[in-house]
Amino acid sequence: MSDLVLTPPAPVRLATTSGGEIGVHRIFCVGQNYADHVREMGGTVSADPPIFFMKPASALVPSGATIPFPPATDDLHHEAELVVVIGRGGAGIDAADAPAHIWGYAAGNDLTRRDLQAAAKGKGRPWDMAKGFDNSAVLGAATPRADAPGAETARILCTVDGATRQDGTISDMIWTVPQIIAHLSGLVTLETGDLIMTGTPAGVGPLARGQTCIVEIEGLEPASVTLT
Ligand code: MN
Repeated sequence: MSDLVLTPPAPVRLATTSGGEIGVHRIFCVGQNYADHVREMGGTVSADPPIFFMKPASALVPSGATIPFPPATDDLHHEAELVVVIGRGGAGIDAADAPAHIWGYAAGNDLTRRDLQAAAKGKGRPWDMAKGFDNSAVLGAATPRADAPGAETARILCTVDGATRQDGTISDMIWTVPQIIAHLSGLVTLETGDLIMTGTPAGVGPLARGQTCIVEIEGLEPASVTLT
């Protein structure tokens, strides 16, 4: 009998604007963080704590990629989001201390199988397969915090083949970036290389084969993806 060596895929890396790379540990996501998007999804804005879910790091797609239309869905949606890159980990981080834990920011697209999400919501089941599928986290190159002072208040846009679908303002988030870090680090210990997708404004909608979807945030590199 011969030894069997199992070799997992290489660690996932995110490009930086200076030509470097960040080793990606985990991808956390915030749900329902813009009031206008909560309303368009048929929900009501509440004072409950933020909702978190996850995508595997292996779901990361670098901007400019062409990906196959995902399986098991007839309703693939774009969600334009500010992504926070954690540089220094920690647990129980106070919101006031949160900026010191941020390495930088990226533009991201939280691709969503909306039909699977709706079915899961209807039965009170987890969202994992609606959110954490292959190629579901499209990310632009990450910009250091010092080079993106306006990232947490910037305009955020999503276009599909040049037509504007989402046009929001990040300062309209219900939970600010420091509040998100405080809540999340009260649930899990954050680590270097964790990413947080911070939620999407109104205007989410379907993508079709052949279309190119671009998320743009003022001051950051765009996150572009084309579907085949
Ligand atoms: Mn989202």
